[in-house]
Amino acid sequence: MNKSKKIATLVMTVAVCSMIVTACQSKQTSPTEPSEPKKADAQTSPKDQTTSDENQIKAIRSQFQNATPTQWGEKMSGIISKLPTNEKVIALTFDACGGKHGDGYDAELIQFLQENQIPATLFLNARWIESHPELTKQLANNPLFEIENHGSEHRPLSINGRSVYGIQGTKNLDAIIQEVIVNHRLIEKTIGKAPRFFRAGTAYYDDIAVQVAKQLGEQIAGFHITGDAGATFNQVQVKNAVLQAKPGSIILLHMNQPKGDTAEGVKEAIPLLKKQGYRFVKMDQYIPAQSS
Ligand SMILES: [Zn+2]
Repeated sequence: MNKSKKIATLVMTVAVCSMIVTACQSKQTSPTEPSEPKKADAQTSPKDQTTSDENQIKAIRSQFQNATPTQWGEKMSGIISKLPTNEKVIALTFDACGGKHGDGYDAELIQFLQENQIPATLFLNARWIESHPELTKQLANNPLFEIENHGSEHRPLSINGRSVYGIQGTKNLDAIIQEVIVNHRLIEKTIGKAPRFFRAGTAYYDDIAVQVAKQLGEQIAGFHITGDAGATFNQVQVKNAVLQAKPGSIILLHMNQPKGDTAEGVKEAIPLLKKQGYRFVKMDQYIPAQSS
């Protein structure tokens, strides 16, 4: 199969995936912000491909085409839940999920981080970046922040369409590949730097999907603590959750729900953690690049 034919096949796969209607989900049950997926831009020029060229994708296809998953969840081998250190450091991570109910921007939260020089890792979905391209560039230009990959359509990463919280997962191997690389390329095109970490919408994976994402060049960013439960926690709940941090904790929070209480709870917890001797770091400062 020639290159243009392969690209056409991938584009078609994305188009088919986009036809799947996913229900918007009640925020009470999800740690992330599920929302109606929108078709991601698959018209990326091959020139933009730095992580995954067609040969790599072909190799991944032949390796995993008939693979059967044996695990499903938020935590398993291959998912990084903590930084590999005993130092009193914490990685605050903020997801921006995008979509109809996830496209907001918590300016109060980001302003607080900037004023207090608190580093953070920001996981941006393709739909959020498409809604906020200039803001994405601004955040990327701030050395406090690192921009990482929160998926193309915000789907659980599954090789067989497994769902969670009513959100349809990627339905096959090609859909997993697209969920990772379409946003990878969008981030690279928007900010001039490729992401190193991937966190799926809902943060759910099967074990095959974890391996595929890693082969595509991204490490899976899990979490040790759910800081805001999909931005549904109130101020006290956010504060108490964040205060559960241990050395190396990765804390999952949101930066796309300004009406939630995430900013308020974070603002209370951070000074208390500082008093305990904690400092805040970005994930890429503590996770070595994968050797593959
Ligand atoms: Zn999300």
